[in-house]
Amino acid sequence: MLTENVAEVEKRIAAACERSGRARSDVTLIAVSKTKPVEDIREVMGTGIRDFGENKVQELVDKYGQLPGDLRWHMIGHLQRNKVKYIVDKVVMIHSVDSLRLAEQIEKEAASRNCHVDILIEVNVAEEDSKFGVTCEETTAMIREIAALPHLTIRGLMTIAPFTEDPETNRPYFRKLKELSVDIASKNIDNVFMSELSMGMSGDFEVAIEEGATLVRVGTSIFGERNYQI
Ligand SMILES: *Cc1c(COP(=O)(O)O)cnc(C)c1O
Repeated sequence: MLTENVAEVEKRIAAACERSGRARSDVTLIAVSKTKPVEDIREVMGTGIRDFGENKVQELVDKYGQLPGDLRWHMIGHLQRNKVKYIVDKVVMIHSVDSLRLAEQIEKEAASRNCHVDILIEVNVAEEDSKFGVTCEETTAMIREIAALPHLTIRGLMTIAPFTEDPETNRPYFRKLKELSVDIASKNIDNVFMSELSMGMSGDFEVAIEEGATLVRVGTSIFGERNYQI
């Protein structure tokens, strides 16, 4: 079942790449496995996927310990500073950096383990009260400060677009994040790369790809609906 879901998502990603004249290899599919058991992850691994996303520290650490070491774990959820220490040497990327204080904590933990962390800055493009992330206006100033931290590298920007039935309504937000990343790239800030754009979820990943996403975070379309009661 999950194998067929992945095939369907793959087909839609390939079509979106085709429509927008992009190479399939420009887009990484991150399978968002939050709330789902390791057996489901193993099944999805069978399709060749190695990038998995989690939004809770404890759950990420649990699954990390039970699954093969070649998986690439992405922290995509809001991260509290006191929990950075549990994941800093386990993840390939933290997508949800939304403050200088959080970045400084990641720097401190990375330095003490002598490791390096790739991060994205989470931008609340749609300025929803319910979402974390900095505003577009705040982003460049914060990046200039974080860029000075030697154990971090800023690889790009991330956004969580509003929940919608019609993915077209999110197109302006994806376009705005892309424009912001091009603008920041043009400033040539040391230690800052704007090569990644983490945007697009089950409801809107095709539109996100058309607007330049390099990392799409897809949960429900691969693993099915989540049950938060269990
Ligand atoms: C849960 C989650 C996703 C995946 O959402 P789906 O709609 O299930 O694809 C993507 N990004 C973040 C940050 C999430 O928390």
